[in-house]
Amino acid sequence: MNFDIARKRMVETQLVARGIRDKRVIDAMLKIPRHTFVEEAMSAQAYSDSSLPIGEKQTISQPYMVALMTESLQLTGEEKVLEIGTGSGYQAAILATLANRVYTMERIRPLALKARKVLDSLGLLNINLKIGDGSSGWEEEAPFDVIIVTAGAPDVPQTLIDQLDVGGRLIIPMGNQYEQTLMRISKSDNGSIVKETLVGCRFVKLMGKFGWTGDD
Ligand code: SAM
Repeated sequence: MNFDIARKRMVETQLVARGIRDKRVIDAMLKIPRHTFVEEAMSAQAYSDSSLPIGEKQTISQPYMVALMTESLQLTGEEKVLEIGTGSGYQAAILATLANRVYTMERIRPLALKARKVLDSLGLLNINLKIGDGSSGWEEEAPFDVIIVTAGAPDVPQTLIDQLDVGGRLIIPMGNQYEQTLMRISKSDNGSIVKETLVGCRFVKLMGKFGWTGDD
């Protein structure tokens, strides 16, 4: 299988055809080899139009959802970004290509260790990865220009809003465990909060103190 051709086709048929327009996002999706973030046995499906299992009952998100979330962050290259839910590391790699520095958190150790290895092998040096409950954010490194949550939350954790800088934006899927709405929360220069509804989506659960409790 020619992964370069498959990736180009993915970008044209799944992203551009559905309205992704940000050239920087398109270039990042063309550049980052998604097949390196899934098990080798699944690599032939890496450019399909769907999320895929990555072990530990977790998933790598659908390429379109990664592109849409990234585009809605309006990154310029200067930002300090916090991602909650490293998973395979794919979204972190896309963010690292488009922002200044990425801080990413994953609660499941084996996934975090695997992601670290792949990200290192790609030479992405501007990513800090921490194992822990990201529903409380990463206090020592706050504030962030951008926060992206890649798991579905029952509500928007106030701690994450608090860790957002003025002028910053937070993207988070919010809803029940079966379906969510992708929300964008912006903190204006005077500190007031604006909430926007983007699209319907379906993510695995954000677990933790300010997420869901029980089984994931
Ligand atoms: N961004 C990932 C990627 O590119 O592969 C996909 C993320 S997957 C849909 C959601 C991830 O969020 C899972 O790996 C899950 O373990 C993680 N997660 C859930 N709750 C979390 C929490 N409280 N803190 C950190 N990670 C969490």
